Amino acid sequence: MDVRHIHLYSDVSGQIDFDKLAKEVAGIFPVCSIDVRPPFLEHWSASPEIVRPSAISDTKNPFEKQPKRAGMHEGIQLFDGFVMQRILAQVIPEKESILEHLHLVFTDLLTCTFDEDDWRYHGRAVICGTPSIVSTAGIVEAPAKPREFYLAQIGGLADIQSLKRRFAGRFIDYNDIRMTSAAAGYALQAVFFFITDGQAFCENSQCRLFNAHWQEDLIRTQIESPALCLKHQRIANKFNRRLFHSKRS
Ligand SMILES: [Zn+2]
Repeated sequence: MDVRHIHLYSDVSGQIDFDKLAKEVAGIFPVCSIDVRPPFLEHWSASPEIVRPSAISDTKNPFEKQPKRAGMHEGIQLFDGFVMQRILAQVIPEKESILEHLHLVFTDLLTCTFDEDDWRYHGRAVICGTPSIVSTAGIVEAPAKPREFYLAQIGGLADIQSLKRRFAGRFIDYNDIRMTSAAAGYALQAVFFFITDGQAFCENSQCRLFNAHWQEDLIRTQIESPALCLKHQRIANKFNRRLFHSKRS
């Protein structure tokens, strides 16, 4: 079954321009119907408290081994993205839980996933699936800032705010005017995840689906020259044609 409807749930903090984001997605998938909804939990009249069980306090242990009563994490609160996804999925009513409906939740909460290779949690900007989750905090925190930023930080030469000023422009920050374009790139990855059977990312470092590990990759692929590689443009075209004909028949 093909994706026909894309539902965008706005973030609470208003960092994203959803009209612009919806237009970007519609530019690639003109045959899908796209609507912008209030924040997910508000739209479905669910309490913000329901995501609390996905909070984590120990970044060096998997979700199953988290302390029973999760204390507040120092600094930014982290959430297990897959656990949060399971909780949110239960809120979606049956008539919209079929694959024709793609739910894209934009959140200010920092989503993370546990990596068994280095046995710790890492921030994630996007969690694909139902619903897909794009985290504005993940966009800021997950892709690494320039190497010199961390070297200066380790050297203890300056506090974080003055470092941010020194490296301004070279990474996406909270309330950054570039947040919308960055979020649109992750939204596209979430859509491609569905139309390609789970391939959200691209190897091509010039493609919008490139999995940016560095902020500089993110800025290049989503802001400076946002484009799909030829392969992914073709996949989108094929999808659009198929959906267009199935709508007519
Ligand atoms: Zn590509």
